[in-house]
Order: sequence, then C-alpha cells, then structure tokens
Amino acid sequence: MEVCYQLPVLPLDRPVPKHVLSRRGAISFSSSSSLFGAPDPRQLSQRRGAISYDSSDQTALYIRMLGACVIFKQLFSRDVRVRSRAGFEPERRGSHPYLCVDFRILHSKPDPTASTSSRRVRRLLSFQRYLSSSRLFRGVPPRNPLHILDDDYTGQAKCMLEKIGSWNFNIFLFDRLTNGNSLVTLTFHLFNHYGLIELFRLDMVKLRRFLVMIQEDYHSRNPYHNAVHAADVTQAMYCYLQEPKLSKSLTSCDILLGLLAAATHDLDHPGVNEPFLIKTNHYLAALYKNTSVLENHHWRSAVGLLRESGLFSHLPAEDGLNMERQLGSLILATDISRQNEYLSKFREHLDNEDLCLANACHRHFVLQMALKCADICNPCRPWELSKQWSEKVTEEFFHQGDIEKRYKLEVSPLCDSQANTIGNIQIGFMTYVVEPLFAEWARFSDTRLSRTMLGHLGLNKASWSGMLQELAGGADDGAQEGAEVPAEDGNSKALPQGSKES
Ligand SMILES: [Zn+2]
Repeated sequence: MEVCYQLPVLPLDRPVPKHVLSRRGAISFSSSSSLFGAPDPRQLSQRRGAISYDSSDQTALYIRMLGACVIFKQLFSRDVRVRSRAGFEPERRGSHPYLCVDFRILHSKPDPTASTSSRRVRRLLSFQRYLSSSRLFRGVPPRNPLHILDDDYTGQAKCMLEKIGSWNFNIFLFDRLTNGNSLVTLTFHLFNHYGLIELFRLDMVKLRRFLVMIQEDYHSRNPYHNAVHAADVTQAMYCYLQEPKLSKSLTSCDILLGLLAAATHDLDHPGVNEPFLIKTNHYLAALYKNTSVLENHHWRSAVGLLRESGLFSHLPAEDGLNMERQLGSLILATDISRQNEYLSKFREHLDNEDLCLANACHRHFVLQMALKCADICNPCRPWELSKQWSEKVTEEFFHQGDIEKRYKLEVSPLCDSQANTIGNIQIGFMTYVVEPLFAEWARFSDTRLSRTMLGHLGLNKASWSGMLQELAGGADDGAQEGAEVPAEDGNSKALPQGSKES
C-alpha cells in the first residue's frame, strides 16, 4: 500500500507507570469522570476507558499515549465538570480552590457482588459501552419502549436502506427506525454492499462488535457530535463514493478506509471544541501539543477500537499499520482550522487539471476532500434536514458558551447565545466555509448531486437570511425565490446520483 503523505507523529514517548500498564482502560472522554472526578489519584487504576491496549504489546502506540497519564496532577488543577446536556454544575473537591474537570458523570458504582467474568468484561469496555452492555448481561430491556416494535421497524429501516444513495436520506428517521442504531446498521450495510467482508476476509462477529463499540463511544448526550452525525457523514460519504469519477477509480481499500474514516471521524467527541480543551489545560491538548487535538483523539480512539476488536488481526501487521496511518490522515483532514490548506491544494490541482486518480496519493487526497465535504454537508441537505442539524450544532456551541461564562473563561466565538443566532452562525459558516469547499468539489465532480447540493445551499442560506430579516422587522416572504434545486429524480425530489450528466 502506497503511503505518501505526511504522517502525524505522536508527541509523547515516555515511560508509563506500572499501575497504568496493569489495566486496559486508557484515555477517553467517556471514562474521564472516573479519572477527573476521583478525589484520590489511586482511583486512576480503576477507571474504564475507550482506548485500550494489550499489555503484552508494550510497543503499541497507545502505551506511549498512556504516558500522558503521568501528568494527571495537572488535571486536577483546571477542571470543569460537565454535568449533562441540561446544564453544568461546578463540583468542588474538598478544599481545593480549582475547577474540577470532568466530561461525563459516572452513573453507577462497581457492584461488589458482580461476578469476576462480568467485571472482566466491564473492564474491557468504555464507560458508555458498559452502560449499554450491562443491560444485556442483566437481561434488562432497553428503556426505549419502541423496542417492542423492533421487527416492524427493522422492516421499515430495510426499506430505507434501499435508498441509501439518495441525498434526501433522512438519517433522523433512520435512527429512530433502527432504535438508535443508525451508525451500526448503515455501516454494516455498506460493508456488505461493497463486498468488503469477503474481500478483506473480515470476521462478521468482530466487525459487528467493532461497529457497536464505535457507536457507543460517541456521546449520545452531545446535541450534535454524536453517532447520528457519524452515520450522516457515512451516508454522505457513500453518496460521494458513488460519484462517477470516484466509483470508477477507487479501490476496495480506498472504499474501506473512506467508510471507516467517516464512521469514526468524531469518535469520543466531548462536545466542546479544541480552544476549550486548550484553555482548560486538558491533558489531550498537552498530549497533542495543541494541534488537531480532537482529530488526533478521534483517530487514536478508532485505532484503539480496531485493535481491541481484532478486526484486522488476520492481516499482515504492516498492512494493519498502513490502514491505521491512512485512517489517521483522513480523520486529521477534517480539522476545520486546516480548511484553507486543503482547499488551496485542491484548487491548485483543479486549475492545473493534474489530478490523476490512477495515482494512489491523488486518490487519497480526493478521499480527504470527500470526507471534508461529508463532514460539513449539513447546509447542502434539504431544508428540513439541514435546519435540524443547524439547531443541534448551535445548541452544542451555546452549551459550551454557558460553561465558559459560568467559569469566567473567555467565551469562544459563536458560543455566546446572547451575541449569536442560529441564522447568523449558519450564514457565516455557509459563506466562508461551506460554499468555497463545495464550489471546488463541484468543479471536480460536475454532477447532478453537486448541483443539488449547491442548490440546497443557496436555498438554505436564503431561508436563514429571510428569517434574520423577519427578526429584524423586515419580513421577506420571498426568501426562497431566486434559488433553484435541480429535481432529485425525474418526478420530484430524488436525484439519481452517480448517473452521468446529460
Ligand atoms: Zn464531524
């Protein structure tokens, strides 16, 4: 496998304390409450984590990452306890004058009567995965009463999968129909669809387990950065993979990596942004030297789950490592702060007409651009979907702003609910981030799908502008006039994507 891009380098390579090596749980936002909330640092050895490693494999990258644990003392000096979606409550530890950092609440204490085997299993799981799986162990039905309709819903979800290539695909409905399992169901379906299970001789049980772990390591409490967003990005990625230029040049390996990267690109996202982690001295900011902190964490979390599941354990070690590196390169490309760097390179290639998809490096670059588009394609979806995403992301931004205000930290741009509205955030995002990217993507892939996306983008922007004008007292009933979206199919909405232009 040809790898010709700059590989990120792990910044830490220091000895790991014995008590850290003796456990599997490692660095995870999911598990961080038991780390940060623990009044006694000795409790470190009891925490569970999403990123795990085999202690016999002491050369694993993760062990180096675990070196960050030695700086745990710092964690107790700048800490913010995130209580829930509904609100954040400060939690003082004894007489310490500092803030207490925590990104998750522990809902339960270890049950002393639990069997050794269930404790062992629990140790292998991240906190969130434990919460779900423990219900299975105990035979407690899921809280969602809709489970009784599982069969019916599965049928309807299957019907939806037949239109998985439609740009109108309603991921929110699909998530409800699959009982909150949209990411697992959709990704597994796509692996099947592309024949990746046979091609890469994947163990179905390991694949299923891997996908379940991924889904559960997304934080369902995040209004936006949760498993539904990951499923949405994976569905968008599939639409791009189906575009003629890509579908006729991508290899199975490219497709496998593209889907994996889409599904894992925000893994274990804490619901706050990088500047927040930096200004609160979060250990991950130190670990990654304030550079692509979240993206590095998403990547390393994905690698941890790949290794824990053993999904690629039958492949030659070199191939497995190459997969991990390429996965990292794709996920790191989603760092929005590096948008101009990628966009300039893309523009240059398009100006020079020198993108050659027979070249593995160029294919990889196009996959990076496709993933970037998939990640921020919300404003290019039909209004009723796009609007929901806008509300969710704004809720997450304002939530962060509320914490910052509470702790007298500088409020991050876009996070102040008193200074921003959904509309002005969206218009700025569309104008400066989304439009430039999708304009270049449309130059690269001049298809109906690209025109559909640009059409929705124009309409949605006009809608937000109209709503802002209404708010300002100048109602503009014709907000949607002047922008057009090509019909998605011959009849009404669904465009036959991947089809050649007439
Ligand atoms: Zn994302």
